[in-house]
Amino acid sequence: MLRTDLAERGPSQAWRVSVGSAAVLGLCAVQMDATPTTAYLMLGERCARRCTFCTQARDSQASSALLSRVTWPPFRQEEILQGIAAAFAQGQLQRACFQVTVSPQYIRRAEEAIRAVSAACPIPISVSIAVRSLAEVERLLAAGAERVTLALDAASARIAAQAKPGLDWERARQFLYAAAERYPGHIGTHLIAGLGETDQELLSCLADLYDHGLMVGLFAFTPIPGTPMAHHPPPDIIRYRALQAARWLLAQGLVNARALRYDEAGRLIGLGLTKGEMARLLEGGEAFRTAGCAGCNRPYYNERPGGVLYNYPRPLTPKENAREIGALLERGFP
Ligand code: SF4
Repeated sequence: MLRTDLAERGPSQAWRVSVGSAAVLGLCAVQMDATPTTAYLMLGERCARRCTFCTQARDSQASSALLSRVTWPPFRQEEILQGIAAAFAQGQLQRACFQVTVSPQYIRRAEEAIRAVSAACPIPISVSIAVRSLAEVERLLAAGAERVTLALDAASARIAAQAKPGLDWERARQFLYAAAERYPGHIGTHLIAGLGETDQELLSCLADLYDHGLMVGLFAFTPIPGTPMAHHPPPDIIRYRALQAARWLLAQGLVNARALRYDEAGRLIGLGLTKGEMARLLEGGEAFRTAGCAGCNRPYYNERPGGVLYNYPRPLTPKENAREIGALLERGFP
């Protein structure tokens, strides 16, 4: 599947494409239960950073063809652009998203890539990238990005010290607030549940990010062989469901962060709702779907095909939603 001949021709001629996206673009054939509604593209090779959960990190022994669980074969830019334009015109894609590693000239390369996609069709473009200044954000937006995402990943400085060595977490958070104030509606971040944080750390961080107008994509930690966190367990699924429910209710303004209740260990024990209210508010199933930019469903980032779906990449069936709400109530939640 990996077309190393293309990768070796140089960064300007080939981009990596998540294998599911490549199938939507007509570049390869893959059997999928759920198709991506965003074209996920990767720029750059091994990242200069040392995030302990990431396959692309400097210290990772995992294949550089992976990001999380997903394989990213390289294809020629021209065929990718044609595929995006056709799939967007046919309504198969709602967004394109560049995941950019910290590698030589990465801001300039991202700008060029965003310009190329913008010239091909009017699809909304996200870029997940380690920006260092508002001027860099400005450059990416001016190139045609609709959304710039700086991944915080860790929910607190304590967790960042373990999982993202070298990141000044508080500074990154303040930078996000400043960027969201300058470019409202255009700035986002990612948080990962399961890096060792408490529910209280994660939801307090999330609520502050929402209060500052940020879009937040929530991931479940996924252990990948070859990374330093390969043997760390993924989050318990019921815990993740409770976090998803709280995230969605916070995002919709249906609960207030001050109403959330925690035990002494920082574990979420209540949403300030009755069981009936919770079941009614969650009945649409949106809470358990992938969270992030509009049109982003990220199938199989956190889950194996046929395995437990941490983030549903599609609408839930009434039966699935009843099962998820039932599991939360059975746990004694809220
Ligand atoms: S939420 Fe999805 S589309 Fe938005 S930056 Fe993250 S991965 Fe990309």
